[in-house]
Amino acid sequence: MRRLTPSQLLAGLDRREPFSPEIRAAAEAIVDDVRRRGDEALLEYTRRFDAPHLTRDELVLPPDAPARALEALPAPLREALERAAARIAAYHRRFVPGDVAWTDEAGNRLGRLVRPLDRVGIYVPGGRAAYPSTVLMTAIPARLVGVGEIVLATPPRPDGSIPAVVLAAAALAGVRRVVRAGGAQAVAALAYGTERVPAVDKIVGPGNAYVTAAKAAVAHRVGIDALAGPSEIVIVADDAADPRWVAADLLAQAEHDPLAVVGCLSPDGALLDAVAEELRRQLAATPRAAVAAAAVERGFLVATASLAEAVELANRLAPEHLSLQVRDPEAWLGRVRAAGAVFLGPFAPVAAGDYAAGTNHVLPTGGAARHQTALGPEAFVRCIPFFAGSPDGVAAWAPAARTLAEAEGLPAHAASIRLREAVGSGADPHP
Ligand code: NAD
Repeated sequence: MRRLTPSQLLAGLDRREPFSPEIRAAAEAIVDDVRRRGDEALLEYTRRFDAPHLTRDELVLPPDAPARALEALPAPLREALERAAARIAAYHRRFVPGDVAWTDEAGNRLGRLVRPLDRVGIYVPGGRAAYPSTVLMTAIPARLVGVGEIVLATPPRPDGSIPAVVLAAAALAGVRRVVRAGGAQAVAALAYGTERVPAVDKIVGPGNAYVTAAKAAVAHRVGIDALAGPSEIVIVADDAADPRWVAADLLAQAEHDPLAVVGCLSPDGALLDAVAEELRRQLAATPRAAVAAAAVERGFLVATASLAEAVELANRLAPEHLSLQVRDPEAWLGRVRAAGAVFLGPFAPVAAGDYAAGTNHVLPTGGAARHQTALGPEAFVRCIPFFAGSPDGVAAWAPAARTLAEAEGLPAHAASIRLREAVGSGADPHP
């Protein structure tokens, strides 16, 4: 870990772009090819990158495959999935948005309708690992708002199979259509539709740089959640924190990715020394040391003048995960202005939020938490404003609207408004 001052940290923060120009070009070429050639191209790329012997008919799994996988899953794993799913649903149910409507003082009706998206694509990363948690985090909020259909895309293993635990999670989250494809080709198929893959309204879910670059390439056509970069954790700690627990939480983030951003901010220099020592010790023992070591080496320990300065520095960083391991974390929560998600106290490790705390683990990275929100039910709806005027209500809005229309040099607008004003005043609107 590097020892940095607060100003060095802000000046030198090594936040990479989510993808390089080379990866952008490769992803765009694949997207374009799948858009033009549909399933034929989708199958070619899937064979090239993932499963060499997959056939065209195997691109989409039979609709009962998720339910069958759930039935066959070992009981402890099924119970863990069910527990996590129940907690994620209970958390997100509180944020399901609904219609709002009212009548203003002049008798006009106003409001906003909330309607679910018709069809959503969720991307579940494959590659070296299986991510059933990502299935739950993306599909459950979509289900809660009533999305018509969820199409899951995930890269198959070399033998063409999809991990049973991913399919079982899909079944629990109400997903029936599973596409065996990953990377830029899967994103393109979801965005444009192919013979076998229906086009969706929005694509959500994390993935590697090719997936992210492809999402950027189709963002003019479908909704996307975010351009996710490497994972991040910033821990704000004081002398009440246990350096062994702080180090363990930093390491848990570091094992995601050599480019993961991990750091600890504290006014307590002795604590930072102890965290550094603990990291060395725990890193030597962790099975994923090869990945974690690179992230730890680029990580930072920053001594601040006060706890308030540490929290303010965290706000400036707007990290994906902010962990407050301080004596009275709730007292500091009010000062948090920008973070993907906040974890309070020693019994709220970020790893809880990765799986089963209930909060979502699809979070803004790379400082995007300054303007973006964790994935949730709001991401899967359209909000449609409406206005229903009445003759008596015209006076409340028309003079202001007409004056502004004239000021903007739009006479047809003004004329359209005058017709309504004439009725309101009892004059003939068509003299
Ligand atoms: P992935 O599914 O994202 O990518 C696999 C696909 O990459 C392949 O199907 C292939 O199409 C494409 N690909 C690979 N090499 C390519 C090349 N040379 N040219 C074109 N396409 C190529 O799986 P992954 O690679 O294991 O990455 C998973 C990512 O998702 C990791 O970065 C992980 O940290 C992240 N993740 C994030 C979260 C979260 O919530 N933030 C959760 C789980 C995973």
